[in-house]
Amino acid sequence: MQRTVLVLNSGSSSVKYSLVQPESGVSVANGIIERIGDDHSLARLEFGGLKVERERSVADHEAALRLTFDLFAEVGGHLGTLGLVAVGHRVVHGGRDLYQPTLIDDAFVAKIDALSALAPLHNPPAVLGIEVARRILPDVPHVAVFDTAFFHDLPEMAATYAIDREVAQRWQIRRYGFHGTSHEYVSQQAAKFLDVPLSQLNQIVLHLGNGASASAIAGGRPVDTSMGMTPMEGLVMGTRSGDIDPGLVFYLARTAKIPVEEIESMLNRRSGVRGLAGVNDFRELHKAIDAGSSDARLAYEVYIHRLRKYIGAYLAVLGDTHAITFTAGVGENDAHVRRDALTGLAPLGVEIDEHLNDSPARSARVISAENSPTKVLVIPTDEELAIARACAAVVDPGDADGE
Ligand code: ADP
Repeated sequence: MQRTVLVLNSGSSSVKYSLVQPESGVSVANGIIERIGDDHSLARLEFGGLKVERERSVADHEAALRLTFDLFAEVGGHLGTLGLVAVGHRVVHGGRDLYQPTLIDDAFVAKIDALSALAPLHNPPAVLGIEVARRILPDVPHVAVFDTAFFHDLPEMAATYAIDREVAQRWQIRRYGFHGTSHEYVSQQAAKFLDVPLSQLNQIVLHLGNGASASAIAGGRPVDTSMGMTPMEGLVMGTRSGDIDPGLVFYLARTAKIPVEEIESMLNRRSGVRGLAGVNDFRELHKAIDAGSSDARLAYEVYIHRLRKYIGAYLAVLGDTHAITFTAGVGENDAHVRRDALTGLAPLGVEIDEHLNDSPARSARVISAENSPTKVLVIPTDEELAIARACAAVVDPGDADGE
């Protein structure tokens, strides 16, 4: 039987999961429990062509995971019979010291928990997910994989904020970068796709999902990335502001007397495309633009303008850029965004082919003009597979990585 890894991504009110075969790369099952703590929580599971959906009250993360395992059993697959060799937990923030995929024991949970001060929105739900999953599946090894890991060795000049050095050191303030699993996976796939050794490739990866980040990668090593100490910095996102003048936070706190938690929540949940246009899904944004909404048009223009600024910056950081790759929900599906992000960059060596860009294909593909010095690619990300492979390598180092 093929080995499987259960990959869990625990948020404050949702748990996403995937059951993945690390060797073959097949996703056996996946699903989500949303609105945990609500009377109308929604649990979904897709397994072997079957889709199950349940709406009911799910009080907490423990109830959510138990319901998930019940759903598995219902569609004919008790987890114990599915070759489960590990549970992989996506952990957003590893701080300065945690970056290797690591077998979780009590002491390691405490280390992740200790980073909650640095990542108050993200690490507490991950810790909760780990604790619950370890309770429910005590006989399977649990492994933590960090979203910051790939950027651990970001060059100091890119990782350092120009602020008081002592304060920064004392409070562990630096640019950590996030979406690392995706940037690493997609950059490796780009090298394979182009049949060029990773070590010889300078590339820009644009992970444009609901969260969004850009990275500049030289020879497989990141040299800059747009997210910083938290996942708020950088590109305009579905609900996050991306770059802002920090002065506006002081102004809102001091003059508008808005509590700091409220400001944080606004910048994370009610900003970005949603803050400007009232929707954060790009399919809805385009509909609103087509219906004549000037707010939606402005949101789109602000989003594209910021994206172009980062692309320009990273072309300069890298010098000779061989590839620009779009990935994640928006990057993989939205031909308008890809076109508008790169239009007019032929003098910088980047030219897309409109026809290729408009193709609805789902697989990895080139969308640049044949004579474009910089290749432009669309590559589907697969963070779950990358996490599953990292976990499989930890639990059985001799038998990892199907590629
Ligand atoms: P996350 O993992 O951050 O939740 P995803 O990578 O799944 O995000 O991306 C989700 C986003 O992708 C949606 O909010 C939507 O804006 C965008 N998206 C998904 N499908 C399409 C599509 N067909 N066209 C345009 N945008 C899409």
